[in-house]
Amino acid sequence: MFQPTGPHLSLPTASSVIDAVRDPTSVVFNLEGYQVLSACDLPLGGRRVSAAANSVEAACPDCGVISARVHQRTRQRVKDLGVGGKDIELVIIKPRFLCVEVACARRTFTQVTNQLGFRARCTTRLKAAAVEAVLDEGMPIWRACARHRLGWATINAAVVADTLTIPDPDQVPVRALGIDEHRFARAKWFKHPDTAQWCRVEPWMSTFVNAETGHVLGVVDGRSSANITRWLNQRSQAWLEQLQVVAIDPSSAFRNAVRQVLPAVEISVDHWHVVRLGNQMLTEVRQRVTREVLGRRGRKEDSVWAHRMLLLRAGDRLTDAGLHRLEQVLEDADYEQVAAAWAVKERLRVMLAAKDIPAAQNARIDFEMAVAAADMAETDKLAATVGNWWTEIKVFVRTQVTNARTEAANTGIKHIKRTGRGFRNQKNYQSRILGTSVRQTRRRRRIPHQQGLHAQR
Ligand SMILES: [Zn+2]
Repeated sequence: MFQPTGPHLSLPTASSVIDAVRDPTSVVFNLEGYQVLSACDLPLGGRRVSAAANSVEAACPDCGVISARVHQRTRQRVKDLGVGGKDIELVIIKPRFLCVEVACARRTFTQVTNQLGFRARCTTRLKAAAVEAVLDEGMPIWRACARHRLGWATINAAVVADTLTIPDPDQVPVRALGIDEHRFARAKWFKHPDTAQWCRVEPWMSTFVNAETGHVLGVVDGRSSANITRWLNQRSQAWLEQLQVVAIDPSSAFRNAVRQVLPAVEISVDHWHVVRLGNQMLTEVRQRVTREVLGRRGRKEDSVWAHRMLLLRAGDRLTDAGLHRLEQVLEDADYEQVAAAWAVKERLRVMLAAKDIPAAQNARIDFEMAVAAADMAETDKLAATVGNWWTEIKVFVRTQVTNARTEAANTGIKHIKRTGRGFRNQKNYQSRILGTSVRQTRRRRRIPHQQGLHAQR
């Protein structure tokens, strides 16, 4: 579309291009490869900026031959970032060159810059701002659409394209890997086509995270051993060999998968999950004993119910007043089983907080003595779990590799889910998770790395 240029427009000449010093307006507007010709206020608010491409010659994208023969000058409106806190309407004028190579099939072509690519209707910097709003600020796409005056599909495509530049997990050096599961959507029911029975589906995802930086390396569907194994098997041999420790929740499926693919790697169990098992045990004992003593569920007038959170808190971090109240609760002869369960839970915490293996082994003896003294099904079950995971607990004590950053990543993932108001497209969801994590990791890159995973043996 050829538009006669107004008298105020002075199109670039060879001498003005050689002159590298831009005029003040172009410096402020700062659109690479373009020079501002005019800017005016519009009657209904906003501003219009006209800018012309400053190229006097360009290489044909097909044959690469440089041409300076202008076929026509095209004028088009493109979307751009607002400048000075106001939206702008940008009109660009660029030459359409004729390809001078006789053998080339292409007749004409236009200038392509980093900011305005082939057939682009909006600048790269506008798309980048929208992607930043979605991936860094956690803004839902529909809101970014309103802010940047772009369509949903444009922003979503830019977000997905951004996540395609994510480094291949095989290229990320990882010494400590965290594997964790999270449920990303409400449980769904569907009728099985063959048996016509209703089945419950829990939409789980498992996340692979660099346990030292929190960088999400991969997300897979489900939480079964097979899905974990498949992801690990897709990694290169060199990547698998650099792994030293894998941190997991106390889940047999995860442990089996890791042992199968990585027989030489040490497995560390996440201590918070073990502490949580101790707290669950204490809660079960409290509820059972309350039923036995009172013949009903606990109420707020029962001191053992009123102080149920106090029981779960770390004993060594209680205030004097808290300790005094706890003593009063546990003094009650009816609740001596609760007191015994509390002692087991505290020994478990001390054991997990041990600084080295000998301290952990001593703490385990205290723990086992407390379990023997308690003599209850709940505490025996906890002791069996600790026995089952003792190797992994020792690895945790020695390496201190935990799933804390994996959990943080999962919290972030749930936030992404909430801002997305329920993703229905799993690909969009996974790309949003990976994209957000990569950008966060890039910003945090200066996190001091944990020194020497294998310091003490
Ligand atoms: Zn050509």
